[in-house]
Amino acid sequence: MKEVDVLIIGAGAAGLMCAAEAGKRGRSVTILELSEKPGKKILISGGGRCNFTNRIVTSENFISGNPHFCKSALAGYTPEDFTKLVSQHGISYHEKKLGQLFCNGSSGEILNMLTDECKKYGVKIITDCRISGINHNGKFEITSSYNNYSCASLIIASGGLSIPKMGATDLAFRVADQFKINICKPYPALVPLTFDLNEWKEFSRISGVSVDCVVSKGKIKFRENILFTHRGLSGPAVLQISSYLNETFSAKSDNVNAFEIDLLPDTDLFKLFSENTGSKIHLTNFLSAYFPKRFAETFTDKYFSSKPLNQYSQKDIKLLSEKIHNWELIPSGTEGYAKAEVTAGGIDTSELSSKTMESKKVKGLYFIGEASDVTGWLGGYNFQWAWSSGVAAGKNC
Ligand SMILES: Cc1cc2nc3c(=O)[nH]c(=O)nc-3n(C[C@H](O)[C@H](O)[C@H](O)COP(=O)(O)OP(=O)(O)OC[C@H]3O[C@@H](n4cnc5c(N)ncnc54)[C@H](O)[C@@H]3O)c2cc1C
Repeated sequence: MKEVDVLIIGAGAAGLMCAAEAGKRGRSVTILELSEKPGKKILISGGGRCNFTNRIVTSENFISGNPHFCKSALAGYTPEDFTKLVSQHGISYHEKKLGQLFCNGSSGEILNMLTDECKKYGVKIITDCRISGINHNGKFEITSSYNNYSCASLIIASGGLSIPKMGATDLAFRVADQFKINICKPYPALVPLTFDLNEWKEFSRISGVSVDCVVSKGKIKFRENILFTHRGLSGPAVLQISSYLNETFSAKSDNVNAFEIDLLPDTDLFKLFSENTGSKIHLTNFLSAYFPKRFAETFTDKYFSSKPLNQYSQKDIKLLSEKIHNWELIPSGTEGYAKAEVTAGGIDTSELSSKTMESKKVKGLYFIGEASDVTGWLGGYNFQWAWSSGVAAGKNC
């Protein structure tokens, strides 16, 4: 049995960050990682350039059973703190849009930075390691395919269920179950949506077309692109709204997951039509000035027959404007964990200290990163949560 101060399960974003922070305090730290290498999600993130944080991060950019829970950790380790570390390591970066910070080079630079920090503070990273049991008897005893360990602090940093092909497992939830710690039901988030294929067949033909719009569910609104796919919709605006559709997708008539799209947020279409009622231009051609042509054709074919504008009544024009500014859609499901960027839900935050991420029930047991019920928007927020929650635990364990 090998004795360490801190044992971390999972060498992802949160685990590596926590390890470096605990190592800095002189704690002996070992990370056990299931995959053959650490930080696989970091490597594929942000299209290979890692959107590692956002310039402006507030609790409003996160979804959680307790919207205030994330505040303390985010204030304890901010985007400025992380960008400072990035700069210290000579990594250049840029803001792409909406405050999103990406590496100029590649995601590998962020991973190297984290593993270098771990090395500097003597952290051991064991890969290809399978955990077979956790016992708690004052200290924690962990049996694994590499070695057996005893530790005072056990950090669960094994992430959520997204992308099983990349090694995602439900270990965090099994550990929570073992210690009778409550879990908020997990569900795939930042995920493409699917629609009933009979109703969607016209749109599936314009797969690859994207439109800039406002997607909303109640008061939640995102202005970004939507992207038509064979089975439904993707694109940043739809990924964002998917995180708010946490109800079970069930009966077709069930519209609890309905959401709306304003396809022309900067234009009052009714006014524009009213100004052109005498025009002989066909509706499709008229709309093609505002949308990709294939979308304009498909949308008109599906909901209205295209004819010269002067042949539409005021009532038709009103209906048409409403459809374009208020297109209500009811998805039939999502593409699931195979395509979900993150897992929403997770370890109930009421079970954890917001300052340290330690379990209130089991002293020395911590849950950090995506395993906890804190889910960020698209745009660097999920990594910021991994860094901030990792540091919060690393300063205390
Ligand atoms: C394609 C993609 C792109 C993304 N891009 C971005 C982005 O640009 N910006 C952003 O903010 N977020 C992005 N995310 C989300 C972000 O990657 C995660 O939110 C973040 O990695 C969570 O960090 P974590 O350490 O909690 O979990 P992870 O990074 O998932 O790390 C968990 C680690 O635990 C290991 N593990 C799992 N089970 C076990 C086990 N049983 N035993 C031992 N080890 C185990 C895993 O192999 C993994 O290394 C992206 C996600 C995906 C899938």
